[in-house]
Amino acid sequence: MISRRKFIQKAGLTASTLPLMPAAETLFNNQNQNQAVLRVAIMGLGSYANRVARAMESCTRAKVVGVISGTPSKVKEWQARYSIPEENCYNYETISEIASNKNIDAVYIITPNALHCEQTLQVAKAGKHVICEKPMAINAVEGARMIAACEAAGVQLLIGYRMHFEPKTLEAIALRASGELGKILFFQGLSGFRIGNPNQWRLNKKLSGGGAMMDIGIYSINGARYMIGEEPTWVTAQETKTDPIKFKEGIDETIQFQLGFPSGAIASCLSTYSMNDLDRFYLNGTKGQVEMQPSTGYGPISGRSHLGPLKAPVVTHQTIQMDAMAGILLNNEKAPVAVDGYEGLKDMKIIDAIFKAVSTGQKISLTNW
Ligand code: NAD
Repeated sequence: MISRRKFIQKAGLTASTLPLMPAAETLFNNQNQNQAVLRVAIMGLGSYANRVARAMESCTRAKVVGVISGTPSKVKEWQARYSIPEENCYNYETISEIASNKNIDAVYIITPNALHCEQTLQVAKAGKHVICEKPMAINAVEGARMIAACEAAGVQLLIGYRMHFEPKTLEAIALRASGELGKILFFQGLSGFRIGNPNQWRLNKKLSGGGAMMDIGIYSINGARYMIGEEPTWVTAQETKTDPIKFKEGIDETIQFQLGFPSGAIASCLSTYSMNDLDRFYLNGTKGQVEMQPSTGYGPISGRSHLGPLKAPVVTHQTIQMDAMAGILLNNEKAPVAVDGYEGLKDMKIIDAIFKAVSTGQKISLTNW
């Protein structure tokens, strides 16, 4: 077990950067404890599911025990790789049967965005906790339905916000929360990559619900909120499209957007499918700054503040995430930054407002947090 003092030393933190650290410490301290293990079935065995499952091989509190897939050959592969018994394998037609499986605690939904809502409803009905990838849905109406369904079924809903457990991100948040940066004035978030194959689901509105904003721009939205530590009250946004054939109606290629916060802080962000390696956060306050680049990629995350380099340890994001989510689902532990359905819904409301700002050219008010 890493002691509090060792963690603080390892992370290069000072007493003034500690407000969020008890929860961050918990992430590390829990790793060697003898506790119940969260038994997870993964739904959708694509690229990110593979990354999550590989990372979970190093988890001490969570384990892949089942799969839900429409492709029998993938199911066989996963069964062999993770010793998954036949009775823990399902397809999209047999999801309801998970209800009678006492050896699965939670289902992690890692399918195309537009499927998340209905699949969450199905898993909740089967009485299992839901971990759902970002974006939680394709709009706020769906997000609210998911929350209501999970609450009605008495199961928890978590969204796969892996950065909410990432140590350098928590270090930057702790710096801001401690007052070290002074009054926060400005955040810049740049999130993008150059998307390839024009036939993939990410460019098909029926499956993706939108373009770069749903997929990668959401990192700047979410990051603006956790870096500034407030909820925005207005949004403005402008879209540019250089390739209307690849990026059809309803699939945004590049959107610049601005968020205003109650304290007067503003965020200026870029979401794009046309520029490579765009992954930078910058937070400016009256007394100091933090910049992170890369800021949300799989890592290692790197950054510095006016005090020097961020020093928190490099981790595999999904290993830390899933161990922490096990603590939340099994032991009612608290995430360092919320990962529940309401957290996902806030981002969906902002995405809805960004699309409205683009289509109307108006400044859109955001209320009812
Ligand atoms: P992917 O295309 O690699 O995998 C999607 C999987 O869903 C495939 O196995 C596919 O067979 C399955 N699927 C089930 N029904 C389908 C249907 N009707 N049409 C198409 N595919 C169907 O995609 P991915 O990159 O793994 O993304 C999946 C989800 O994970 C998305 O919501 C994405 O936003 C999210 N994601 C999150 C992160 C992160 O860092 N948190 C990273 C990548 C992806």
